[in-house]
Amino acid sequence: MKVAVIGGGTMGNGIAHVFAQQGSDVTLIDVKQEYLDRAVATIGKNLARQVKKEAISEADAKATLGRLRTATDLKAAAGSALVVEAVFENFAVKKEIFTTLDTACGPETVLASNTSSISLTKIAGTTGRADRVIGMHFMNPVPVMKLVEIICGQATSQETLAFTTQVAKDLGKVPVTVQDYPGFISNRVLMPMINEAVYCLMEGVADREAIDTVMKLGMAHPMGPLTLADFIGLDICLDIMNVLYDGFGDSKYRPCPLLRRMVDAGYLGRKSGKGFYDYAQ
Ligand code: NAD
Repeated sequence: MKVAVIGGGTMGNGIAHVFAQQGSDVTLIDVKQEYLDRAVATIGKNLARQVKKEAISEADAKATLGRLRTATDLKAAAGSALVVEAVFENFAVKKEIFTTLDTACGPETVLASNTSSISLTKIAGTTGRADRVIGMHFMNPVPVMKLVEIICGQATSQETLAFTTQVAKDLGKVPVTVQDYPGFISNRVLMPMINEAVYCLMEGVADREAIDTVMKLGMAHPMGPLTLADFIGLDICLDIMNVLYDGFGDSKYRPCPLLRRMVDAGYLGRKSGKGFYDYAQ
């Protein structure tokens, strides 16, 4: 199958990796060749790790890289059975991409978005093929995580859903069908939990280690909510709480003032070296 992946960042390189490994011919598209070179280098490094762990052979890794092409023009997506978009979480940017893809790709191409929080119905509405637009919400890191949330917009057809579900299964993933409501399932359940943990910290219910320990040892979560928030990025957590708050108009989704204050201070978690914990070393 011919697949195009738009955006070679954290998610895009992982998505290109799993499709190429499964046997698809993948065209990875980004705005600059240097971003694409970096994405391909990351894929090469991750494949080498899989070889070292004896999960795949050296020959598999080489063949996977051989199925990867790169391009800086969206028109290179033409002729693909499926396009997966994984660019910045910004509606204006996604709108431009979907409008261009709609013209560049034939009517048979299914257009998928990896958005974590933007309405699929809204994205589909920028094209003339809303029945063939769907969400494929992969989890980070893509080669490791099994789940793919498949999000149906208002007009997504049963054929598109069946096709995308099969594609996810062929990748060895576990697809779960979700309707298009704010936060889908993953973020609607996860983010309020994280937000509540931040409230517990703000109100002095317990310190950060205690809050994380309760959820780790008491609920068997692999990491505590504050550690997880640092890993995801506190700005991303705040953005998603705002999507839930705006989308439902329900005060139970109001972002915790401490979360806002941390983001205002530039304490964004691991990526900035400081969040609820310190990562300076
Ligand atoms: P990222 O910032 O790492 O990568 C985005 C890439 O898109 C960059 O390489 C950028 O150059 C490229 N890009 C921007 N505009 C473009 C354009 N017009 N044409 C082609 N490429 C363009 O972002 P990410 O973390 O990989 O997130 C991508 C998407 O996946 C977002 O919608 C995000 O919400 C979603 N997502 C992220 C995660 C995560 O954990 N990072 C998890 C699930 C879903």
